[in-house]
Amino acid sequence: MYSINNYTINKSLIFYPLNGLEQHTISLKNNRLIAVNKECEICKGDIYAYECGQCSAGIGEKFLTIMPLTFRKLILIENNILDELKLLDDKKYKFLDKKNLNDLIKYLQNILIKRKKVDYNLLAQLIDLNKKWYKCNEISYYISKCINLIDHKLVFLLKLYELIVNLALSNVCPRNFYYYDFYKKYEFLTKEFQISLPISLNEFKKLYENIPDYVGSFLNFYSGKKSYPLKIISAKNYYYDLNFETIAECRSMDSKISYLNTKIEIKLTRNLRDKIRAEFGLKKINLKKEKIKIPKLEINLNVIDLNERRNNVQK
Ligand SMILES: [Zn+2]
Repeated sequence: MYSINNYTINKSLIFYPLNGLEQHTISLKNNRLIAVNKECEICKGDIYAYECGQCSAGIGEKFLTIMPLTFRKLILIENNILDELKLLDDKKYKFLDKKNLNDLIKYLQNILIKRKKVDYNLLAQLIDLNKKWYKCNEISYYISKCINLIDHKLVFLLKLYELIVNLALSNVCPRNFYYYDFYKKYEFLTKEFQISLPISLNEFKKLYENIPDYVGSFLNFYSGKKSYPLKIISAKNYYYDLNFETIAECRSMDSKISYLNTKIEIKLTRNLRDKIRAEFGLKKINLKKEKIKIPKLEINLNVIDLNERRNNVQK
């Protein structure tokens, strides 16, 4: 159901962090102005020239206008998603009617731990679960990661739906969309639906992917390729793989825990993260024994090994 001016968001089709969205409708009338990355014109051809005062690492920003025509595609995409859902053999899976949150969490964790080829018929069940449980951040986050394992048109459509909902909120969130392992296989759908994306895959690779701006603690990650510990923690791992820090944040929000003291908050969130790692069968790593590998960056930056420094100071 939609009017010519507004579109009602189908909340069972969006996942964490959009699951917390309080807004119910999207205006189909107005343009949106969004900021996207662009190659800096001043230090062009010399990417990562840190002397440039106009940009950060050769990458600047520009504004793009997104027309209502793009937001109207949500109706088309939603209809396609619902049609695809009907085609799935959902009888293959007993619909879970788990009333117990912990059982449900274990069930979803198990899918992520096994990471075997997930049957696409499971999609109907996952979307049904998201419909019932979308208010629970941890569940919605797991579901968003479970669907990444599945090679199916429906997953691509869900990601496209999420991308356009984000654009309507004036956000560009291209990572979940472009990092999908089967992206190339279903890319043709954007042409079929005549959707012009604000950034192309090439622009994404050049301007979003290859930025060594974040190196997180490797205790936060659980690589999809199961090679653990990860040799390289890249922006891709941070944004796409299962992230234990994010799960800990979700669980804290779900249990409505709030801390008065920031130091205690950091400590307890880390403890919770480690507890969740253990639930996934990963033991806590003794960081003193295990030498952390500093990710290799493609550029000649001097990476400071903080642990080494700390040790030197202590000596
Ligand atoms: Zn520049």
